Amino acid sequence: MPDDLFLKIINREIPADIVYETDEILAFRDINPQAPTHILIIPKEHIRTMNEMGPGHTEMAGKLFLVAAELAESEGIAQEGYRVVMNCNRAGGQAVYHIHLHLLGGRQMGWPPG
Ligand code: AMP
Repeated sequence: MPDDLFLKIINREIPADIVYETDEILAFRDINPQAPTHILIIPKEHIRTMNEMGPGHTEMAGKLFLVAAELAESEGIAQEGYRVVMNCNRAGGQAVYHIHLHLLGGRQMGWPPG
């Protein structure tokens, strides 16, 4: 098994502020938040990058977005607005190699991203 920080969170080997969990998906607050709301939504299945996603992941990928929308609502940022982003590999800014959707909100976002 690869050295995967987020698998350790799934397995409760390291602590996290978990805000949502099903058999398939986990969401927890980012340890270094870039916005007042910054939540990471991950599949429990180990998938290193978005490049490793295939047709078998369609339903799970859709669920990540639905959970993001649900959490945006419960965090009170849905109406004002928010951003979801998945970084891929080095140039995309990926640091943890277990796919995750960032949910960011509670402040004005800039565009284009840096
Ligand atoms: P990325 O650059 O897209 O791979 O994002 C990785 C994110 O994981 C960063 O925003 C980190 O702050 C966050 N992160 C790293 N370690 C932890 C941890 N132990 N608990 C919560 N978030 C973490």
